[in-house]
Amino acid sequence: MMPKFVTLNTSLAESIRKSMELNSKPFLSEVIDPKRVTECPRRLYYCCSGHLPEKPQSCLEGAHNEYMKQKWLHIFAKSSAITIMDKNVSVSDCNYNLAGLIDVVVKLDEEILLVTFYSVVDADFQMIRENGAFKKHVIEVMINAWLMERGKGILFYENRNTGEYLIYHVDIFSPIIDTVEQKCLQMMGHKLTGKIPLKPYKNKLAKECKICEFATKCWQIKGA
Ligand code: SF4
Repeated sequence: MMPKFVTLNTSLAESIRKSMELNSKPFLSEVIDPKRVTECPRRLYYCCSGHLPEKPQSCLEGAHNEYMKQKWLHIFAKSSAITIMDKNVSVSDCNYNLAGLIDVVVKLDEEILLVTFYSVVDADFQMIRENGAFKKHVIEVMINAWLMERGKGILFYENRNTGEYLIYHVDIFSPIIDTVEQKCLQMMGHKLTGKIPLKPYKNKLAKECKICEFATKCWQIKGA
């Protein structure tokens, strides 16, 4: 729900165009997206090796997120305490083939904050309120902060049903970054040799396989 005092300066059509433009960049299908680092290695391999998802992806979800982001950017811009320093900041590291995106970099009380927005449904929002931020989001924000080499990672959750929000800050934790580095290096090895990582699950009834966009292709291959 949009607060009454906000006037949007980005139209829905513009949000859809931006989202489609982002989804169609071939470069993004060859790098490791920090958003996906916590996924099954085989799924991550398909993603960063140019494989197309089996089901067409709706651009509406991306458009909604872009729309929500623009709304909060507008609110940030109205705050006298917050200075927006940059928007849609690309961060990357060629040693690990990582490329991420930070929604907005702001300054607050001399602190540089790297903000990433997430729009979640009410059930997820209540879960986050009770148990803390989702692990995959924490890792994404941590990787992006590490790639940026300055500032603090901020997760900004909006409840898409009520407009409430929650904010978490993420510190860089070296053992997690070490694990990410290892996973990326292994992924690069798989890409170079063309050897697909083993399935980590016994059958396709695993929770992640049920939502995986490469499930048919993956389970068509017999054996591991
Ligand atoms: S179907 Fe399951 S095992 Fe195969 S890539 Fe997807 S998540 Fe991984």
